[in-house]
Amino acid sequence: MSTNSLKFKTIFGSLIISIAIISLILFQLPLVASFGYEFAVILALLFFLLSGLTNLWRLGNHISLDAYLRFSFLVLFVPVIAVIIISLTQDICSFWYGISFYLILSVVSYINGFFLSEIINEIFSIYHKIIFVFVFTLIALIPLSEIYLNPQVYFYSPLIGFFPGTIYDEDININIPLIFYRTLNLLYFGLFYFFIKRTSEDKRSLIITTFGLIAISFLWFSSDMGFSTNHKKLDEILPAKVESENFKIKYDSDNLDSTEVTILLLNHEYYFDKLKRELGFNPKKKITSYIFSSRLQKKKYFGSEKADIAKPWLNEIYISKDSWENTLYHELVHCFSAEIGIGIFRLADSFNPALIEGFAEAIDNNYDDIELHLLASSAYNYGYKINIEELFSGLNFFKSFSGLSYLFAGSFCKYLLDKYGVSSFSVFYNTGDIRKAYKKSVHQLSEEYYQFLQSQINKISETQIQYYFGRSSIFQKVCPRQIASDLKTAETLMSQRKFSDAEFIFRKVLDKSNDYSALAGLINIYLQEKKYSIAEQLLNEKINNYYGTPYFYLLKLFNADLHILMSKDSLASAEYNFIVKSNPHIQLKLIAELRIDLQNNSLLKDYLEGSDSLKFQILVNMNKQKVTMSSIIPMVNLAEKIKLQSKIFLEIFHSPLIPEDEDDAYVLFYLSKYLLKNNDLVNARKLISLANRKSVASVFYNSFREQFEKCNWFIKNYNRVANKFKYQ
Ligand SMILES: [Zn+2]
Repeated sequence: MSTNSLKFKTIFGSLIISIAIISLILFQLPLVASFGYEFAVILALLFFLLSGLTNLWRLGNHISLDAYLRFSFLVLFVPVIAVIIISLTQDICSFWYGISFYLILSVVSYINGFFLSEIINEIFSIYHKIIFVFVFTLIALIPLSEIYLNPQVYFYSPLIGFFPGTIYDEDININIPLIFYRTLNLLYFGLFYFFIKRTSEDKRSLIITTFGLIAISFLWFSSDMGFSTNHKKLDEILPAKVESENFKIKYDSDNLDSTEVTILLLNHEYYFDKLKRELGFNPKKKITSYIFSSRLQKKKYFGSEKADIAKPWLNEIYISKDSWENTLYHELVHCFSAEIGIGIFRLADSFNPALIEGFAEAIDNNYDDIELHLLASSAYNYGYKINIEELFSGLNFFKSFSGLSYLFAGSFCKYLLDKYGVSSFSVFYNTGDIRKAYKKSVHQLSEEYYQFLQSQINKISETQIQYYFGRSSIFQKVCPRQIASDLKTAETLMSQRKFSDAEFIFRKVLDKSNDYSALAGLINIYLQEKKYSIAEQLLNEKINNYYGTPYFYLLKLFNADLHILMSKDSLASAEYNFIVKSNPHIQLKLIAELRIDLQNNSLLKDYLEGSDSLKFQILVNMNKQKVTMSSIIPMVNLAEKIKLQSKIFLEIFHSPLIPEDEDDAYVLFYLSKYLLKNNDLVNARKLISLANRKSVASVFYNSFREQFEKCNWFIKNYNRVANKFKYQ
């Protein structure tokens, strides 16, 4: 045996064992263990480097290509064997879902790495490995520069294939664009390799120039091909533009009418004014705000469906028509935070997510219209605790259910801001050095904060806390990616009324997990098909699995409605009363109260079976004799669905809307928000003034006060601000 061959066997053998060990370790990590996208991405990056560097080593040591290919097959097979072994003891979700990601991400990256190393070996005579690593870094910098310069949060890369952007959209699929992209990767590196191998050295410059130009033009046109999204692309998608004193807003005028734009822009200016006063600093340039027409459009061009996002370094925010009311203020704080941020991204030190999000949440101070400290102190009291020291270190922010991370990061930052002021906080934000900012350790400050929480009065019940925070993060769920993508498929089938196909998928998901959407989907199918007893049986079987989560109460409501449809009235009213008594969330309580009212008037069955406009009509008739407060929120939601003009909404009520308790006050607050959104400023203010009469004991007190302030500001500043609007 030659020394080279021995060296080859030792080195390649130990590499194969390392890959086996790495694969087994990956199966111990949260999320990665569910053999899907994350598993494939980590190996893709590793494989690109591994295949290139080992191939260059092989070439340097004159080892045959055959031997290398045998090694490569083994390397690529090892993780698959690991999956098969692991699957005997641990649930790996779906073998085929995982394998398809493995092939399209990891295996293709391995081949890309091989081709690149061969090309480098042919072109350069020395320093092959250094050049390979240099080119690898260069390729890695492309998506980084795209994230930095472009609006997009997703990216495509030859190194890992695809990165989706945020962790809040759980579904990732292998789709046509991804297959197309990976085919282009293989074609590019493969053809480059093929031609360079077959061209004599004196003619190579032509090949190199040609492939260099192809790469440059690919980058140039990648936005047009859908592999990135630059500002030009976004300007095509959202072609209308309006400017105000402090903003440029881009939108699509086909999906946003002039009233909506006016109100949106006024909201922007109102929050800008408020932030400027509160923080004492503001961005020097106009902020650009992109308003997507829907979450799906935002997903397609920007990369995030559920979350709205800001890029403080670009002074831009990306929100959508159906979510801006809840996110605008938060995203604007991110833009303001650039003033105290650091580095080229102008974010918190080390991109600390708890600091970045905590600051925005603290200033926003609104969690479903409740103040952060109110919720945090009750959550803390009922055992939903997050260790602050841990939360603010590394990426622990993403470990727990996001709502809880946001709440505690926000509440802690608010505590620091209120007690020690903005300038100390700026030092903390900018340097990450809490001791430098506060002359105290993070341990001391968190103890102080816990004591503060304990000194607060608990106004939120345990059931309500469970309703908000009895959920899991993507890292705590079973097979989240695959289930999310299965659910998307099932929802599409539902919309095509292919119920039995959808039912099959929902059942499959429910066998594996307690996913609420799958159960709700199944019940909806049975309701549509009027198979009430099957739905009832399913609910009875499953409902207790959801105890301690918000879904428990939603299922209770389903169950009660089902009883009505099956004419089991007394069972239904017991369930509705249970929801009212438990009061997991004010809106759910109001829905149950309305159901009871409708039941007493023998209208509930018609209401449940009726179309949106019939439902609305039933509620209108009900309010003719006497105002039913619990009907107002459903009426607002129905009015939006059936596109009823807000002007005639108030005409429905023949007597004045006077709140008798804090629940009524919440209803009027909700109605005031709806009217303000529809440009009825005077009535919006009138209603929130009425709501304030019963606001003292309400957990929504702060939001009522802010709504009142906002209405006043709108009335006072409408003309001044709107006169400066410049449409294009
Ligand atoms: Zn944020």
